[in-house]
Amino acid sequence: MNDKKSILVHTCCASCSSYVLPHLQENFHVSAFFYNPNIYPEKEYFLRLEETKSLCYHLGVNLVIGPYNSSAWTNAIYSCRNLPEKSKRCWKCYNLRLDNTARKAADLGIGLFTTTLSVSPHKIYNRIEEGGKRAAERFSVAFHSEDFKKKDGFKISVKRSKQLGLIRQNYCGCVLSLKESERKLGQKEEGDKRTPNKPDM
Ligand code: SF4
Repeated sequence: MNDKKSILVHTCCASCSSYVLPHLQENFHVSAFFYNPNIYPEKEYFLRLEETKSLCYHLGVNLVIGPYNSSAWTNAIYSCRNLPEKSKRCWKCYNLRLDNTARKAADLGIGLFTTTLSVSPHKIYNRIEEGGKRAAERFSVAFHSEDFKKKDGFKISVKRSKQLGLIRQNYCGCVLSLKESERKLGQKEEGDKRTPNKPDM
C-alpha cells in the first residue's frame, strides 16, 4: 500500500525542479504547480513552462498549470517597484506565488504544499518560510518548510540541468530582474573594454 502523503509543489522552472521534485518524490506523492505570472517576456514564460512540462513527464509528476496573469504580479509588487532584488519587492513576489499555491492545494484537496524557490542561493529562505506559513494558515493547508539549497541541493540542480540540457536563466524572471541583469552585463563589458587582457578570475 502506498501511504505517502500528497504534496503540491510550486515550481518556478525546470532547472530548480530537477533537484526538488525527485528529492520530494522519495517521501511524498508529488504534484507540481506552475504559477509564475512574474516571468517576462511572454516568450520566456512559455520556454520555462515547456521545459517544466518535459521534466514532469520525465519524472512521472502530474503538472497543474496556473494562469499567466501578469497584471496580478504588477499589482502585487507595484509599491516596491523601485526597490532592488532581494528586497520587499521579492517578498511580495514570493507571497503571490505561495498564496496561489496554497489556494490551489486546498482546491485540489491536497493538504500540504511547498515551493522550489528555496533551492536558489539568490532567494531568502526565511522570507519564503514566513510567506509559506502565512499562506498555509490563510487557506487551511500545511506548508512543508525546507531549505532545498542545503545538502548540495543547488549544486545538484546545476549538474542535473546540464545532464538534461535544461536552460539555466541569467535573470530571476521579472522585467525588473531582466533590466538589472542587463545593466550588470553592460557594466562588466564596459569594465572589460577598459582593462584589456584581464585574466579570468
Ligand atoms: S527578482 Fe525574482 S523574486 Fe524578485 S520580484 Fe523579480 S521575479 Fe520576483
